Amino acid sequence: ADFGFRAVPREEKKPLVRAVFDSVASRYDVMNDLMSLGIHRVWKRIFNAELAPQPGLKLLDLAGGTGDVTFGWLAGGGGPVIMTDINANMLSVGRDRAISRGYVSDLSFCVVDAEQIPLPDRCMDRVTISFGLRNCTDKLAVLKEARRVLKPGGRFLCLEFSRVQVAALAPIYDAWSFKVLPTMGSLIAKDRDSYQYLAESIRMFPDQETLADMFREAGFSHVRYQSLSGGIAAIHSGWRL
Ligand code: SAM
Repeated sequence: ADFGFRAVPREEKKPLVRAVFDSVASRYDVMNDLMSLGIHRVWKRIFNAELAPQPGLKLLDLAGGTGDVTFGWLAGGGGPVIMTDINANMLSVGRDRAISRGYVSDLSFCVVDAEQIPLPDRCMDRVTISFGLRNCTDKLAVLKEARRVLKPGGRFLCLEFSRVQVAALAPIYDAWSFKVLPTMGSLIAKDRDSYQYLAESIRMFPDQETLADMFREAGFSHVRYQSLSGGIAAIHSGWRL
């Protein structure tokens, strides 16, 4: 079916993404639960298990938004985290949530564009990006930056929407993302455009194999992926050796 989605011109992408997340920041968590029927929580639990937090390891969380990955890491006993996002509104919701959960030590916040990370080479043990890569304009630049800041032996993990691989799921998923999501966006958040952007950006994102190839192109070794919920989402990972 042709749902009329369009590629956002490169020069328009950053301001558009900024406007989307400025607009959704305060409702982001509740909309996430509604729109995914809570399933994003399960995906993030699987992601955190794969990430395997450890006390001695340093994590950089890119596009950290309201903090789910960071909190999973800290709750799992992980070491110091730098939680980052390009959008100060999203990050400040994340900081409020951190304070109310009692996460005050071992946690710092910084506004960071994942395409240009203001950190030296080889300083982090783990780098994550969850539902963030899709929103970045130059995805390969993000992957290269993630690798650059990792220590040799460090690992990068990405959780993102991917390509549905179960044929029977496709029509239901299409109807959900192109009919139900924008309608929910306009009724609940009074913001149809942001949720339309969400559905479109998901369709434009590289599939499992293409993203794995991009990981290799960025220099990662032992690249692997795991599809979740029939390919609606996927976890990709690679090591810096
Ligand atoms: N990681 C969180 C999660 O899994 O719930 C938040 C994901 S949210 C869908 C996407 C985030 O990507 C937004 O907070 C947005 O501001 C951020 N973002 C978009 N472009 C970015 C960029 N170039 N660098 C860093 N973050 C970016």
